[in-house]
Amino acid sequence: MGKRDYYDVLGTNRDATEREIKKVYRNLARKYHPDVNCVDADAEEKFKEIVEAYEVLSDSEKRCQYDNFGHTKAGMSFDGSGVFDDIFGMVFRDFGFQNRTRPMKERGSNLIFEVAIELEEVYRGVEKVVTIKKAAMCGECNGSGAEHGTHAETCTLCGGSGFIRTTHRSLFGNLVKTQTCKECEGRGRTISSVCSVCGGEGRVNESCDITVEIPAGVPSGSRLKITGQGEAGFRGGPAGDLYISVYVKPHQFFEVNGSNTVCNYTISFSQAALGATVEILTLDGKEKFKIPPGVQSGTIFNLKGKGLPYLNSRKKGDQLVRVVVATPTKLNEAQKKLLKTLAEIGKEDLGLKKRILN
Ligand SMILES: [Zn+2]
Ligand SMILES: [Zn+2]
Repeated sequence: MGKRDYYDVLGTNRDATEREIKKVYRNLARKYHPDVNCVDADAEEKFKEIVEAYEVLSDSEKRCQYDNFGHTKAGMSFDGSGVFDDIFGMVFRDFGFQNRTRPMKERGSNLIFEVAIELEEVYRGVEKVVTIKKAAMCGECNGSGAEHGTHAETCTLCGGSGFIRTTHRSLFGNLVKTQTCKECEGRGRTISSVCSVCGGEGRVNESCDITVEIPAGVPSGSRLKITGQGEAGFRGGPAGDLYISVYVKPHQFFEVNGSNTVCNYTISFSQAALGATVEILTLDGKEKFKIPPGVQSGTIFNLKGKGLPYLNSRKKGDQLVRVVVATPTKLNEAQKKLLKTLAEIGKEDLGLKKRILN
């Protein structure tokens, strides 16, 4: 359904002056204000329409836009609170126009649940079953809160509106005061015999097993949203959402830097000097790697594509291998002799010359 023409809504000509528009608006607003008009069923809708039309036509810039472009450019972000105060001032301000009634159904709370996973699980992605204690929909009453075979009824005290109006005479005419209906707490509907299982809440506390798909490459600290798996709503209201906070446990061999993994790999002095082919642990199993001769401690090698996968991508990061050359300890006599010979050949000063010569 398209919007009605603003001039039609106010019943004015297109060339009406600002004063004329204000005058018709005042009359219409007083007639259709929902706190005053209890006769017309659609008074509130009409009132909103009138306020919206006035908001645009009383503002010369917006009116000009509207005259040129129609509804497409004007009145899109409507918020009637400003004009409302301007017109009703002292008469209505204290009694409020905001909707203080509560909905019959209320949305359930969102829940946050923390899951710790291994780095290997980040590499491949993992399915986790988490057990969550939460308010779930009552199976007895299907969430309605009413005893089996009965249902919620329109509140007899407020007639379903959720609020009670009282009228007071004053200098300004009749003042209307609105209060939330005590009978239905503003919900407009009451339950005469509440469900014996949930006590009228429409939900009960339960332990629920929920399967969570954690995608490969998820960074530590990420939050996954599972729509509708939070707490059940009050009396059949929509459920909240479940958020899974994913933490990656520290790994004994790898550190993580973005999508790259970083590790140390310790080699012997001889391996460093002569070079060697070694097996290095990756997240995808062991990988053969050739260490070139003469490598220095601290050198970093890059194993391309052996890191973590990028989230929602086939790309993978790298594994950075930092070589640590270990100084030999606990040498036996034969080893010591060989190292001394090596030092002598290399003319290294060990400070032991005298003893060797003796
Ligand atoms: Zn129930
Ligand atoms: Zn009521």
